Amino acid sequence: MKRILITGAAGFLGSHLCDRFIAEGYHVIAMDNLITGDLKNIEHLFRHENFEYYHHDVTKFVHVPDKLDYILHFASPASPIDYLKIPIQTLKVGALGTHNLLGLAKEKNARILIASTSEVYGDPLVHPQTEEYYGNVNTIGPRGVYDEAKRFQESITMAYHRFHGLETRIVRIFNTYGPRMRLNDGRVIPAFMGQALRGEDLTVFGDGSQTRSFCYVDDQVEGIYRLLLSDYELPVNIGNPHEITIRDFAEEIIKLTGTDQKIVYKPLPKDDPMQRQPDITKAREILGWEPKVGREEGMKKTFDYFKTLSREDLERKEHRDFSQRNRR
Ligand code: UDP
Repeated sequence: MKRILITGAAGFLGSHLCDRFIAEGYHVIAMDNLITGDLKNIEHLFRHENFEYYHHDVTKFVHVPDKLDYILHFASPASPIDYLKIPIQTLKVGALGTHNLLGLAKEKNARILIASTSEVYGDPLVHPQTEEYYGNVNTIGPRGVYDEAKRFQESITMAYHRFHGLETRIVRIFNTYGPRMRLNDGRVIPAFMGQALRGEDLTVFGDGSQTRSFCYVDDQVEGIYRLLLSDYELPVNIGNPHEITIRDFAEEIIKLTGTDQKIVYKPLPKDDPMQRQPDITKAREILGWEPKVGREEGMKKTFDYFKTLSREDLERKEHRDFSQRNRR
């Protein structure tokens, strides 16, 4: 039986990856320190005989007993609100955490896939973004802690590949959504859906002319799965190229949720990218992959999930109290 370590396993993407690899018959070793993850996302797997969970911070030495065939490194805060609250942790998990996991992969002779991001392109001057584009990142801006950690992560991964001959894979994940997103992480989809459910107006940042392209989680997981099992070492974009302005997206959410909310405009956060759309030619050619779930279907499934949350969850400002912990 193949054994796979998944870091960030209690997070949004990590938990869906746990589900997928359990379904594919793997033994899954899930790891998380629960700074932004939530055990609720994986508690249904705890009774599964091929699933085990380690509470561990991967910026510390990582030990896993016995053989390991694959590692998926998905531990990282991943929303602008989180980077502002826990900037040092964000840098450490991308840099020190990745170093530890590459060392573990080398020790175990395992193949490692690291979760990179469209943020490596920064506020892009090339549109749509191809993997060849080097990016336009403000190193010292609020997003710099995430963007530069992820850029360093790609560099050290390629160095381990070239210098040690390690089998590495790099996925550049574009905006992805679906059930188990954290309600209050500040991202646009949980923000709008939470607002709709609470009967509040939808907050569009800036004039809403900035664009994003949203990929449903099942499509994202399929792309990651195929990339892991492929023999391609360079970064691959995985995302849905169907681009929309945030203003139009807010209108779509109002229609979908059947509410009569209005749109209110708030200041645009610093370094908020103006446009983002993946060029997925590589994923199509190398992995035979393309997204299958349209926005309407995906958003409906996601809204159905948010509707199952309790009133208390909906009203709570923060899911996690960042103030006391994780200051190092
Ligand atoms: N956004 C918005 N209202 C919100 C939250 C986000 O208009 O309540 C905008 C945000 O400024 C950005 C886009 O939605 O332009 C996507 O934001 P998100 O944080 O989801 O992802 P990212 O900026 O990292 O792509």
